Amino acid sequence: MFCKNCGTQINEGTTFCPNCGQNLAEPVAPVAIPDPYDHTAEFTEDEVKEYKTFALITYFLGFIGIIIALLAVHEDSKYINFHVRQSIKATIVSMIVCLLFIIPVIGWILAPLALIALAVFVIIGIVWTCQGKSKELILIRLFTFLG
Ligand SMILES: [Zn+2]
Repeated sequence: MFCKNCGTQINEGTTFCPNCGQNLAEPVAPVAIPDPYDHTAEFTEDEVKEYKTFALITYFLGFIGIIIALLAVHEDSKYINFHVRQSIKATIVSMIVCLLFIIPVIGWILAPLALIALAVFVIIGIVWTCQGKSKELILIRLFTFLG
């Protein structure tokens, strides 16, 4: 093998390079695996700064917030569109979960639990948004309608 620092040929299993002293046992830095649900890099900092409040309103107020955001943001903002889509998905999934209440006993137990879980995922989404991140909501991201 060759030293990864200076290129000197060295014997297999050597811990330190005899030429430059490079620690050869040192593991190569792991390559960061990109999160496919993290869209933060797709939006400009200015866009995030300008519209963060409206993105948050969509999560806090559901459909009412979505309408407010769409009325308030005149220009076509990819950032707002992204968060509006997340909020619409969360609202639709919540409505589907409410249908569980039709099922006696099991539905009455499952529906409130599922609604609490959804609320938690939306709260996590709100925290991400506050931090300037644009990530698809946990679990809700698995419902691929609306992208
Ligand atoms: Zn070396």
